[in-house]
Amino acid sequence: MDLSFGDRGHVRVRQAWTAAEVRTTVEELVEAFSHRLPPKDARIVLKPNLNNDLVALVGNSVDLRVLCSLIESLKNRGFHDLAVADGSNVGVHRRGIDAMQRLRVDRLRDRYDVETIDLNHDDGVPVVLHAGAHPRVARTVLDADFLISIPKIKTHAEAGLSCALKNWVGICAGQQKRHMHMDLARNIFAINEAVLPNLVLVDGLVGMEGNGPGDGQPFRFGHLVMSDDSFLNDLVVMRLVDMPWREVPYMQHAHDAGYIDDALDSRVQAEVPIIRSIEKAPARSRLAELSEAKSLHWLKLAVRPLVDRPEVSDAAYRLKIIQDVYDLDDDTVTGLSKDASRCGECTKCGDFCPTHLSSEEIGVKTEPQDCIQCLYCWWVCPEGAIELSGELGHLSRQVERYKSDVERL
Ligand code: SF4
Ligand code: SF4
Repeated sequence: MDLSFGDRGHVRVRQAWTAAEVRTTVEELVEAFSHRLPPKDARIVLKPNLNNDLVALVGNSVDLRVLCSLIESLKNRGFHDLAVADGSNVGVHRRGIDAMQRLRVDRLRDRYDVETIDLNHDDGVPVVLHAGAHPRVARTVLDADFLISIPKIKTHAEAGLSCALKNWVGICAGQQKRHMHMDLARNIFAINEAVLPNLVLVDGLVGMEGNGPGDGQPFRFGHLVMSDDSFLNDLVVMRLVDMPWREVPYMQHAHDAGYIDDALDSRVQAEVPIIRSIEKAPARSRLAELSEAKSLHWLKLAVRPLVDRPEVSDAAYRLKIIQDVYDLDDDTVTGLSKDASRCGECTKCGDFCPTHLSSEEIGVKTEPQDCIQCLYCWWVCPEGAIELSGELGHLSRQVERYKSDVERL
């Protein structure tokens, strides 16, 4: 589906699922927007949603099939100054967890000769938003010649839905991202007025619904969306997943400011089909709301050392006060192999391999130039035929929560 909104922008929606389809489709989309691309020596910053350390196949972070395909497409066009940059959420940052390493985004550095930058450690420039918020926007983002936002589609218990506009919160560095929560809806809108991406490529392969963004259910959506306007992008995506944009407070602010008008809305409702209705996030518990109350911020800071203790954070998770529980043990997986006697030759592992190994090659070609150890093949194998060497560490909790869901994708 191709939607043109004249000078305002364009949105293209494509179906894709397997790694081969993703590569072909990303190439087609980049070609369609090639008139937007900068000169070849431009500094291009790709900003994926790497919200936390949950593997992409549960719907939280950007799928490496999309990221690898986009880098390959840009490299093939002669762009050489590329950086992949994001700052994960404040909980990840505060605990010193390296989400890029856990998500294997760091392996793209050597594979493609790109930079990987944790924006949480970036120098930044304060921008004045609403309700006293003045987060620092990462210098890496401000200094880039060209910005590509790569969001997911996931429900967000506080914001409604996370796509391009919400992904942009990640351009704020370090703990100052908390400033956004002083008035989240207005500040999501405002940060997108302050700094805009040049292009958006939505990873709509696996989304998250229900109690997102950190504890919802993954669902197969199987689409990629590219656009040159974040507001149009999110208007279209919300229609695709049947999320009424008027129920998403930051979209209301965009409407009030004139970025979305009734004519645009009517056109999108008439021309864009609903592909799949997303299950909305449940109402937040009273305790969860209290935990975010501005007037109780001092108390939150005071009890933080206690809340960071595993037994307390586990209890807070069970009581639905928090979504994210972090484990400080990195995994120590050093390799993988395939047990041919268990393999049902379904080819599913090859469909998910970001480095385009076939199901026959997976577990055989294991050198770093072939395999970035994302473990997607292991996550999706329905027969348990992929075996890992090393310890799962922090992945154990994710496996318990999500492995069977991922196998069903
Ligand atoms: S997903 Fe598992 S069963 Fe299917 S081809 Fe790969 S290793 Fe074999
Ligand atoms: S072989 Fe498996 S672990 Fe290696 S890159 Fe492919 S999907 Fe990831």
